[in-house]
Amino acid sequence: MNEHALSDRLSCVGAYVPNQARLADIGSDHAYLPVALMLQKQIAYAVAGEVVEGPYQSARRQVRKNRLEEHITVRLANGLAAITPEDRIDTVVIAGMGGPLIRSILEEGQTNQHLAGVNRLILQPNVGEMPLRIWLQDNGYQIIEETILSENDKQYEIIVAEAGQSHYSAKQLFFGPLLMQEKNAVFQKKWQHELQQKYRVIESLQKAKDAQDQKIAALKEQIDWIKEVLA
Ligand code: SAM
Repeated sequence: MNEHALSDRLSCVGAYVPNQARLADIGSDHAYLPVALMLQKQIAYAVAGEVVEGPYQSARRQVRKNRLEEHITVRLANGLAAITPEDRIDTVVIAGMGGPLIRSILEEGQTNQHLAGVNRLILQPNVGEMPLRIWLQDNGYQIIEETILSENDKQYEIIVAEAGQSHYSAKQLFFGPLLMQEKNAVFQKKWQHELQQKYRVIESLQKAKDAQDQKIAALKEQIDWIKEVLA
């Protein structure tokens, strides 16, 4: 992967960035996404935010190599603190991290008013999608698009959210309200795999010395949901 040829995962994330957006890519590593979108003239301006020095330097090098310093600002910052009001960011991407970390970045950003003026969140959690959907619902967002794709035999979900009221059921928060409607082949593959995993976890919990009845009951409920959705 490079700035000219994004991975399928990042291409798919990029496809949800509105034309001529002012984008913040938080956790931007090599800045591949903002650089690629800028080279394709898809975005008007971008901030690439990174909290770790090494990836921050990689992002800076990438922007410099492509002579995009006037259009992409790279900042060493924690989460949405990379954004200033002068950036007039309207679209935020947070991709390639766990759901709980993305959730904590959004929570801190919301508390510190960094999300004011942002119209669209494009989130790609590697794991832990449910806590993220719960955060979106609790904070006045609705999910307008969802995708699941497979890359290198791993499944990735992309959640696109905009301001709006939502009242999702526990099952919709668990599977994704739009993904569970579509139930495409990748979705089926992911949940077949999860089903087997949950059976294995129950088996090992049943062998444990301490009673794990609550955990087992919760897993059994999820197994019933998965079987129902895959049926
Ligand atoms: N977003 C790219 C992608 O999807 O390919 C890079 C993903 S990489 C696995 C995650 C990056 O997020 C790392 O470079 C890490 O340093 C950065 N990161 C983690 N927590 C962060 C935070 N609180 N603020 C900014 N960047 C963060």
